[in-house]
Amino acid sequence: MNIAIASILQESNTFSPVATYYEDFNPVFGAAALRRHAGKLTEMGGFIEILRAEGAEIRPVCAAWAITANRTVRADFERLVTGFEKNLKAARPEALLLAMHGAQTAEGEDDVEGYVLQRARAVLGPDVPIVMTLDLHANVTRRMVELATAIVGYHTYPHVDMFEVGQKAARLLVRIVRGDVQPRMALRKLPLIIQAEKSQTSSGPMAALVKQAEKWEKSGAAEAVSIFPVQPWMDIDEMGCAVVAVTNGDARAAQRQADTLGRRLWDTKEEYEAELTPVPEAIARALEMEGGPVVLSESSDSTGSGSPGDSTGVLKHLLKAKLTGPAAIFLVDPAAVATAVAAGIGATVSMKVGGMFDTKNSKPVAVKGVVKMISDGRWVARARGYNTGITTCMGRTVVLEAGQVFLLIAERSSMTVDPELFRSHGIDPVYCKIVVVKSPNGFRAAYAPIAKAMFVVDTPGVSTANLRTLPFRRVPRPIYPLDRDIARPDGL
Ligand SMILES: [Zn+2]
Repeated sequence: MNIAIASILQESNTFSPVATYYEDFNPVFGAAALRRHAGKLTEMGGFIEILRAEGAEIRPVCAAWAITANRTVRADFERLVTGFEKNLKAARPEALLLAMHGAQTAEGEDDVEGYVLQRARAVLGPDVPIVMTLDLHANVTRRMVELATAIVGYHTYPHVDMFEVGQKAARLLVRIVRGDVQPRMALRKLPLIIQAEKSQTSSGPMAALVKQAEKWEKSGAAEAVSIFPVQPWMDIDEMGCAVVAVTNGDARAAQRQADTLGRRLWDTKEEYEAELTPVPEAIARALEMEGGPVVLSESSDSTGSGSPGDSTGVLKHLLKAKLTGPAAIFLVDPAAVATAVAAGIGATVSMKVGGMFDTKNSKPVAVKGVVKMISDGRWVARARGYNTGITTCMGRTVVLEAGQVFLLIAERSSMTVDPELFRSHGIDPVYCKIVVVKSPNGFRAAYAPIAKAMFVVDTPGVSTANLRTLPFRRVPRPIYPLDRDIARPDGL
């Protein structure tokens, strides 16, 4: 058995002021893709472990991951897909395992996953099995379901099951190749967008849906049932939540499962409404509490949701607050980094920071502080979640100490869900009074066990939970919650 493995992962935000380029994916091809992921807790790591255990020959195609931003520039996108195609052709596999996000866009392409599947089918033909893994926030399209043999999505949010999903997809693919499974896949699409802040899978309505999906999987009634409460920041034609079910040989059962969970998602849609706290109130409540850390989630500037990470919406209040202990915040601002690096370690600098990319939603603020650290911005994610075990490169990075506020300022964006981001730069969130994360929900996996309290704060931004403040033009209408008065979808 020889199986190709590949990953091309990015979530898009079509409201983001930042475009995506080839280099943002840090792509590697052929054997280097295997080296990057072997032994790591990623989807590819899961593929590799199962395929090795099954004695399959692994033919690595590519590995690429980019942080969330707006559409990939067309020429760069073509360069990436051509690299994938060339290496897939050379691999000549019996089957393909493909890890993608499901909500990726490029210039002129709203459905990158469907497009990549099309290019893969052009190489492999219609009969070679392709099992694709997707993030829980995928915007599943009809083309993806048509072209993939089976789709397997994450079951966790915060996402901590990438490795297990990779294993599950690989096990399924092996059984398909051996002829033990005749996959039948069904899709239920919904005119629905769900805010990210309250859709965790550990409790609440989403947890109940995942439990039902797992019940079917365990009983053998399904091979894989995946709920996709799409990420809300994409203004594209085929936008909406979805459920995808894969059974062994029973197309009607697959449709029934997808419809059942689709109905339950529809019926609980009001329960996902985010609760946002004004920043001054969140800071005041943090200061009233004994100890820390109190985590402020600035989800409107979430770097994992396509925001540039340059908001000063929380920072401007932190700098004015009478803090009783240290506060930590991450910021993307290459000009500020250059100024701090030029000044050198130990120097006191006065400069304006933030508000550099998203000039509509936030303004630069004046800050005076001491340059505590200058680094190359390379750190390894340790918490279960994104890229666990893999090095993040956020360019030159500085720590600026402004009174009690510690600003971690980088040239390039980074996920902020892992406390290791701060720890790797000498700031331990455990000893902070306040920690600001730029994440709507993913941060809870690693921060909930150490946080005294957590508040999702209300600031403007391109990944805001206030969806009606965003300039949606192309999403199919009516769609909830942009349209409140909306009829139950046909057939549910
Ligand atoms: Zn996600």
